[in-house]
Amino acid sequence: MKDNRPNNLGHLFNGKMAMKRREWRGFKDTAYDFGYWLLTWAQLSAMVMKMPIRFTKALFRYRWLASYLSTPAFIDRHTLGQRGTQLRITHMHFDSMVKATIKIVLTTFKADANLGESPKQKALSDKIVLFDEMMMLQIMAGFPNLIGIPYQLVPVFECSLMDQQSSIPYIDAIESYGLPSDTCPLPTTEAGVAIEDDYPRMGKCFIGSTMPCDGSVMSTQYQDRRLKLPSFAFSLPVRYDDPEVEKAAVEDVRACIRFIEEQTGEKYDWDAFFKTMKRFNRETEYEIEKWEVNKTPYPQMTGASMALYRMYTYQMNGGIDPYYVKLDEKVNKVMMRGYANKEKCCAEPRHRAIVWSCPAHYYSNFATWCENCWGINVLVDMESLNAVRPFNLESQEEALKDIAHYYERMTMRKHTNGGHPHVLEELWRVCAEFNADMVIMYQHIACKTMAGLNGLFEEQARERGIHLIWVEHDLMDPRTVSRREMRGKVNRYMQTIMREEPVDPTLVDFEDEKAW
Ligand code: SF4
Repeated sequence: MKDNRPNNLGHLFNGKMAMKRREWRGFKDTAYDFGYWLLTWAQLSAMVMKMPIRFTKALFRYRWLASYLSTPAFIDRHTLGQRGTQLRITHMHFDSMVKATIKIVLTTFKADANLGESPKQKALSDKIVLFDEMMMLQIMAGFPNLIGIPYQLVPVFECSLMDQQSSIPYIDAIESYGLPSDTCPLPTTEAGVAIEDDYPRMGKCFIGSTMPCDGSVMSTQYQDRRLKLPSFAFSLPVRYDDPEVEKAAVEDVRACIRFIEEQTGEKYDWDAFFKTMKRFNRETEYEIEKWEVNKTPYPQMTGASMALYRMYTYQMNGGIDPYYVKLDEKVNKVMMRGYANKEKCCAEPRHRAIVWSCPAHYYSNFATWCENCWGINVLVDMESLNAVRPFNLESQEEALKDIAHYYERMTMRKHTNGGHPHVLEELWRVCAEFNADMVIMYQHIACKTMAGLNGLFEEQARERGIHLIWVEHDLMDPRTVSRREMRGKVNRYMQTIMREEPVDPTLVDFEDEKAW
């Protein structure tokens, strides 16, 4: 492939909310990119037109909804500088997330009593089981007549990825209410949305959790008080490597299933569960193939798209929607073709990097910037490396163990709270497997477990000759550490320690504090 990547991408930023113009990528890639941009707008418009009155009411009722409408700009940030296979895979991944979110938004607004009550709205609401967004939905595979919705997914998780200012009013609200300001902004924002009464009102019951950390325990209490629904506290053991705790974990899974049965009157359908998990196992195989390709000298999907997509398939979907396995098949074909053609993932790949610890939501495209500015190819992200053991498809007893196994190792929880073998030893193993010479080490200043290990990370990276670049951030609050300051950490390391010149000098420093 002829490479026509520019070295002046920084000129697209003008200090305003939106970029100056779209990137020119040559005729074929620009047309492909523009086609997906139009498709995103078409899908968002169709979503609004499906229920214009309820949607308009929601726009005035929920502050976060305006941020959700910046989806096209969010996707643009993640495709910057991309060409060929990498561009195609990123668009396919993001489009699947757009489709999934639209489904959730439509169901939510139809069932939301805040937007108007009716027998139809009530009937739908009674079919909904709300889940803490940090919980996976696999357990719902045995309830095909019910709908599991990760409650805070759109108001908190997604909007904070799309618009860096989205969480700020909620953080301020809950801190004025008395919450200490050193709490992680994820549970803080969740609690803030609750006290601002900005969650839709729906659902038959709520499954709260202690996942991934103590912040969720705090946040669930605030939300539970506001929701006024029967709730179940799912609290799997944190020290999950100990085989002794498996029995307790399985009992918790059983109790959760029983709770949903009692609240909804539905019976757990094991045949439906096994059928869905067969699909989920196939999705896991496709994920492992992506990792295998990225371990070679010709990685085909670098940046944040792989990790964000993995969160959707692993956690929010869990094999329930058959769309994903078909998409995986398509992505796999495109990826293998790019690999066979030895396509490059950026203009000048110089370093093979791993991203470790929790990434900043307000700068989810940080890996894309690293690639365009300094030629740092991010091959895999800690958030992707969750459980991969196949679900047992015959025995109910074994399947219960598998559910517990997956829930214990869900996003963030496995690594941030999983103890030495998962926080540290696993990082070095992953570096060796992916032949990485660099780690982008996020230092989320409010994530206490990770913060206690800085010295060990430093010492062990030095022993192995791996470049460890610490990048501080505050997850959902860009006022503490801005995007520009995050870039500054990599810039300083690359200039003073590595003594390298940037691939794109216009990206070294630019203004984007007001951008979405
Ligand atoms: S980033 Fe850290 S503190 Fe925040 S929710 Fe995740 S594990 Fe907890």
